Order: sequence, then structure tokens, then C-alpha cells
Amino acid sequence: MDYQYDDQNIFAKILRGEIPCAKVLETEHSLAFNDIAPKAPQHVLVIPKGRYVCYDHFARAASDAEIVDYTRAIGTICAELGVSPGEGGNGYRMIANAGNDGVQEVPHLHVHILAGRNIGPMVLMRS
Ligand code: AMP
Repeated sequence: MDYQYDDQNIFAKILRGEIPCAKVLETEHSLAFNDIAPKAPQHVLVIPKGRYVCYDHFARAASDAEIVDYTRAIGTICAELGVSPGEGGNGYRMIANAGNDGVQEVPHLHVHILAGRNIGPMVLMRS
């Protein structure tokens, strides 16, 4: 595993407080904020505070405490947004893009939580 973390990426700047964000939740190891260009009525990004490029990097290199915190933060946000199907919500889509083929723009792990309308087909089909 050879990930080079870019400390100048936009989410690193948000974590350092150099750029503002519309914060939704902050925990010991995680931060969630609204996407600046929302693709659905509710569009929240959840990031770990650690220097992880994408999900598989995090899943393999993060501590158990970071992984638990991040996973629980996602659960809390779904509950707070009122989108959890188990609590009468209409559901959501969670996306974690990685690398070139995943079309990841910001090289700091983030999951997108999209909700508030039917999010449509899972992927665009191309021949
Ligand atoms: P991805 O293509 O998965 O890397 O998604 C990156 C996301 O970050 C996009 O949905 C952008 O709209 C979002 N984004 C970029 N800059 C900011 C920012 N300063 N605050 C909040 N969201 C941002």
C-alpha cells in the first residue's frame, strides 16, 4: 500500500481551519459538513480527521478507534438527517469515490450521503 497524502487538498485545509465549512457533526476522529455543490436536497460529506486518501487506505491503515468513530458518525448523521429507513426515513445513497476510475476529485477520504429525493440509477451505463 503506497498512498501519498497531499496536505494541500481542500479537506486538509478545512480540517486545519484554513477554509470554512458548514459543519454538521464533529467527533474525536471525524468531521461532517455540507457539500459546497449539493447534488441532492441533502448532501453531506463525512471525512476522517486522519490523513487517509480513500476508503481502502483508511480501512487498512486506520486504528480501530478511528474506524469505529467514523462508522458511528455516519450512523449518527443518517439519524439526524432523518433519512434512516429503520426510523421512517426515505433512505439515502452513500458513495465513496476512489482514484481515477472512481472519479475522486478530493484526495482525502470522504463519503457522500445523498438524500431528499430519489437518487436514481446506481451508475451511468456506458457501452
Ligand atoms: P469527489 O468527486 O468524490 O472527490 O467529491 C468531492 C466533493 O467535494 C464534491 O462533491 C465537491 O462539491 C465537494 N467540495 C469541494 N470543495 C468543497 C468545500 N470547500 N466544501 C464542501 N464541499 C466541497
